[in-house]
Amino acid sequence: MSELVLLGDEAVALGAVHAGLTAAYAYPGTPSTEITEYLIRYRQKHGGPIAQWCANEKTAYEEALGVSFAGRRTLVSMKHVGLNVAADPFMNSALISINGGFVVAVADDPGMHSSQNEQDSRVFADFARVICLEPASHQQAYDMAREAFDVSERFQVPVMIRLVTRLAHSRGIVTVREARAENPVSRAATPASWILLPANARRQWRALLDRWPSIQRYTETCSHNTVTQGAVFADWGVITTGLARNYYIENLDALGANPPHLHVGAYPYPAEAIRRFVSGLQRVLVLEEGYPYVEHALRGIVPPATAIEGRESGHVPPDGELNPDIVRTILGLPARTVLQVEGLNLPPRPPQLCAGCPHGDSFHAVTSALAGFPDAVVTSDIGCYTLGALPPYNAIQSCVCMGASVGMAKGAAEAGLHPVVAVIGDSTFLHSGMTPLLDCITADAPMTLLILDNKTVGMTGGQRTIRPSSELEGLVRGLGVKADHLHVLEAHPKHDAHNTEVLRRELEHRGLSVIIAVRECLETIKRGKGEKVAAKA
Ligand code: SF4
Repeated sequence: MSELVLLGDEAVALGAVHAGLTAAYAYPGTPSTEITEYLIRYRQKHGGPIAQWCANEKTAYEEALGVSFAGRRTLVSMKHVGLNVAADPFMNSALISINGGFVVAVADDPGMHSSQNEQDSRVFADFARVICLEPASHQQAYDMAREAFDVSERFQVPVMIRLVTRLAHSRGIVTVREARAENPVSRAATPASWILLPANARRQWRALLDRWPSIQRYTETCSHNTVTQGAVFADWGVITTGLARNYYIENLDALGANPPHLHVGAYPYPAEAIRRFVSGLQRVLVLEEGYPYVEHALRGIVPPATAIEGRESGHVPPDGELNPDIVRTILGLPARTVLQVEGLNLPPRPPQLCAGCPHGDSFHAVTSALAGFPDAVVTSDIGCYTLGALPPYNAIQSCVCMGASVGMAKGAAEAGLHPVVAVIGDSTFLHSGMTPLLDCITADAPMTLLILDNKTVGMTGGQRTIRPSSELEGLVRGLGVKADHLHVLEAHPKHDAHNTEVLRRELEHRGLSVIIAVRECLETIKRGKGEKVAAKA
């Protein structure tokens, strides 16, 4: 046994390695990116396990399924909205009989630090009928990741590890144990269980439902769902989940009371344990990071006379992250006295593109080309360039999900708006932009697709794109875009007049055009130089 200081993401990664991981797949997405970055570094140092970035979360999930099919242990990781992309294999993988342990680590982002929503993946796990483990500490992130593979093989279902930003991106001390060996290759004992033809799928769905009571027994009795008895005569109690446990415990001394406390860290939620815990209590406070998931479930479990207080009832803010101060207020404690610094009037610092970012030059050309078109529409996507919505650019009007810019532009153009420009980054295009482009090509949609090729996945720290920039033009041409309406430009101020002119010409064209604006992200250039200097030292 030894102690390490790890990010929550790294604790999951190392827990998986020590559980005998054979392969891990992912698409970068804050706050889950560091899981795979850690595994890639681990592989460089130790020669394994396989750790790869994939085209998107769906392909990552499917590659991991193949590893499980071969009887070996696998991890797929993603941010919460990435699970929407992988929803098809995720939902269906609950029905097949998992062979090698299959763990899906999903990092939620309550408070939306770098996401377009704050969906709670526990609900998704419930929807698919898979087991979910939710760590409340770095040690639990490591322990649960290790255990999840055993649980997955025992019940033949995928197991989700649900993280949140504050755990994924903070560091803590983790005691690590001896690594377990990898599974040998062994094909599934019931190969038909992987063929979800209707007749098999019906059998598999029924088999999952039949297994469900034994899965419920596991979460009813597992050590992740624990009761701390507290004051015997208290008529109220507290239920916490995930990190909310820490925020509650931090306030216990100030509270001067010690009511009974149930912490839930494993799902399906332990309905019997909750029923036993609540019996005799007049009031239960539910503190959970994310949706009022357990609170909602409680309303069908506990007698109506028991008051349930949480996000749904209005006792806890309905949205955003919790923290110790918010929980303090919920517990009725006075606000902490904090050090007031007089005269410190810091200017607001809204997020913005790096000075000199190539996207800024592309937006300048787009704005200039669209001058004189008051009804112009620019749909956009997810990446650094989404900041084009803010001053000084004010250049885009939408950002919904990965790849949406392309399909939305087609729809807006077909609805009658003109001109319509879709702006998407190279990595996002490879992730989810190519399939909607096929629709645009088929319809010869009257729109211009502008691919901002900065040769990297910029927003998540500069990971390599799944295919190099040099192949992008050929890929677009291969999909079927006509050569006379396909242009490759350099996104640089010295080419601004030319770029604006090309854009303007294509805006006049009442059919599909694609423009690839190329210039490398400044951050990856800097990092490249840093690496060279480090290599010489
Ligand atoms: S990280 Fe790169 S792509 Fe993102 S804003 Fe900075 S220079 Fe632009």
